[in-house]
Amino acid sequence: MSNILILGGTTEASALASALADRGERAVLSYAGRTGKPRAQPVPVRIGGFGGIAGLVDYLRRERVTHLVDATHPFAATMSGHAVAAAQEAGVAHIMLTRPPWVASEGDRWTHVPDIPAAVRAMEGEAKRVMLALGRMHVDSFAAQPQHHYLLRFVDAPAEGPALPRHGLIVDRGPFTPEGDMALMREHGIELIVSKNAGGGGAEAKLAAARMLGLPVLMIDRPPSPAARVTHEVREVLDWLHQAADRGV
Ligand code: NAP
Repeated sequence: MSNILILGGTTEASALASALADRGERAVLSYAGRTGKPRAQPVPVRIGGFGGIAGLVDYLRRERVTHLVDATHPFAATMSGHAVAAAQEAGVAHIMLTRPPWVASEGDRWTHVPDIPAAVRAMEGEAKRVMLALGRMHVDSFAAQPQHHYLLRFVDAPAEGPALPRHGLIVDRGPFTPEGDMALMREHGIELIVSKNAGGGGAEAKLAAARMLGLPVLMIDRPPSPAARVTHEVREVLDWLHQAADRGV
């Protein structure tokens, strides 16, 4: 029988865990441990880093994992790189389950930057009211542009306040709607949105809201992903599991 390790922290990982539980498959979902209250899951959960590639290889061998599904966030590049290397070393079948990136459509005013430092540099200049839709790990980098007022929206209340001199903080897990985000942007007089190109439905509302309000978006493109088999659909992961099992991988 297959023994599946899902690297999670995303809605895709949770959807896959449900699909596997429904089919009576043996699976464990792994979280990095960044979020205070991860949602309840229908499969066993483990929390915390593995200790680099070597630690993950040990885990895969010790737990007799047969299939590794990397369903981490597209910006979790370190974990994804480790997953490819460890699966290869341990001889475990590997696939990435990830959301397609967002693509600009008519009316969008996006400027693309390759990473967070480039986004910070691009924000030199006069003070603006900025919605910084990034998650708490990266907001402190924007202290290098202290002239702006930043509106932050986090999943959990942070233990320590962000290191930004002028900011407002909203704690909300969503789901968000274009109408709700439009109202929020109007209420806070937002002039610019900074977003990572995460893809997926949950965080897209702010981009639709920006389009409707004619606001510019500074879009941080994804880090390069490792050479690996990639799918965007839970169903395709299930097909892959059965094909790999048939081949005795
Ligand atoms: P990262 O920079 O790629 O990973 C840093 C380290 O965290 C990894 O080397 C690993 O530690 C540990 N780690 C990451 N994901 C893990 C997982 N699912 N299970 C166990 N250990 C994990 O990752 P990150 O960007 O900090 O993201 C951390 C988690 O948050 C991921 O689960 C990701 O899916 C989720 N997330 C990230 C973002 C984002 O924008 N980056 C957004 C939403 C959710 P060891 O080397 O010790 O194994």
